[in-house]
Amino acid sequence: MIEKLVIANRGEIALRIQRACRELGVRTVAVHSEADRDAKYVKLAEESVCIGPAQAAESYLNAPAVIAAAEVTSANAIHPGYGFLAENADFAERVEESGFIFVGPRAETIRLMGDKVSAIQTMQAAGIPCVPGSDGSLGDDDEENLNKAESIGYPIIIKAAGGGGGKGMRVVHTESALLNAISLTRTEAHAAFHNDVVYMEKYLERPRHIEFQVLADEQGNVVHLGDRDCSMQRRHQKVVEESPAPGISSSMRNEIGNQCVAACRRIGYRNAGTFEFLYQDGEFYFVEMNTRIQVEHPVTEMVTGIDLVKQQIRIASGAALGFQQEDVVIRGHAVECRINAEDPETFLPSPGRIEQYHQPGGPGIRVDSHVYNNYLVPPYYDSLIAKLVAYGATREEAIVRMRSALSEMVVEGIKTNLPLHRKIMLDEKFNAADFTIHHLEQNLIQQ
Ligand code: ADP
Repeated sequence: MIEKLVIANRGEIALRIQRACRELGVRTVAVHSEADRDAKYVKLAEESVCIGPAQAAESYLNAPAVIAAAEVTSANAIHPGYGFLAENADFAERVEESGFIFVGPRAETIRLMGDKVSAIQTMQAAGIPCVPGSDGSLGDDDEENLNKAESIGYPIIIKAAGGGGGKGMRVVHTESALLNAISLTRTEAHAAFHNDVVYMEKYLERPRHIEFQVLADEQGNVVHLGDRDCSMQRRHQKVVEESPAPGISSSMRNEIGNQCVAACRRIGYRNAGTFEFLYQDGEFYFVEMNTRIQVEHPVTEMVTGIDLVKQQIRIASGAALGFQQEDVVIRGHAVECRINAEDPETFLPSPGRIEQYHQPGGPGIRVDSHVYNNYLVPPYYDSLIAKLVAYGATREEAIVRMRSALSEMVVEGIKTNLPLHRKIMLDEKFNAADFTIHHLEQNLIQQ
């Protein structure tokens, strides 16, 4: 049983995990950097430990400091949230070796899925459809690489096996640009992820991004919780997400969802996870698996009524899921807007003091946020300040409620992307669910 849990994260997800713990009667320890010392969620936790200076490398990414915090507070579990150490297999391993429960999959699963090349090979073997590609990493033989690209057909995309956060990808349209692109992506991947392994995929020109949420317990029960469309992206980073994915029939949803469930059984998956696909011309193509809770998990919670973070903690405590696939019913529609502290036109981060903050409300509105009047958004971390979620009986109702909520929401003192979200919610193509992953950048953002 988890009695006391260290929340190895910050911001909205730290508060989200804390709320789940409170409902479950689990005590919490907030670990924080010097920059987050005064954050409200830190004060609201039963205990808190400062684990280092503002720079994430010395605090939130400092695995020994996080584990030491669990030791000194006699906690028995660590929840990594998303980002930071969440997909670091060595960290998960050290947590378990130190005698703590890691709220997430086994270290070996994180390692297998964290390397996109081994993830794709595993999924192919499990019968999951993948993007046509190099079926493995690229070597140094130029001739061979040129031949591989030729047989896949241009355009292709070079991707870093260790990549994440939309980084480490390069699109190649012509043969003459291939070799240079491979070596540039390799160099970048080495610098960013300490791993210069790269591979090649067919570049899909007009896909949507559709992903499937799964939950698996230690007893071998696995369910999927339907899908999410996350096609509204800027620089491969999600801006708006929704569930269910519009235009996907429930039989198609179940077919792909069941394939994800079968793949989880095959690899002995545990806890919450997401299978990410690109969807084009009626076909799904697996791109990667995320072995953690995701930023966009609330839209799935709204349409299924299942609390994913509580389930994560229950599963990590050794409890069985307690429900089966037939019990998972998708009802209504939910949309999430990621509200970032950034300039809506230049997208440059806009940290600073929030002078006025007013959160919207009303039927179907949920706000996951750690900020408040007079909160100082620190410049050291990602710029997410709130997730605004709207639920409705239909997609139309969810969007209408989102428009209303966006018009009520006030954040003054810093710049935010609220104007961009207001524009998206009025966009004809978004409303008609007629978009691809390029729509936001090509049609709604001035380049
Ligand atoms: P990350 O781990 O950095 O999030 P992903 O592999 O999940 O990387 O890809 C992120 C995004 O990049 C996708 O949602 C999509 O927009 C784009 N992308 C990735 N692979 C392809 C591909 N083969 N064709 C077209 N777009 C792609």
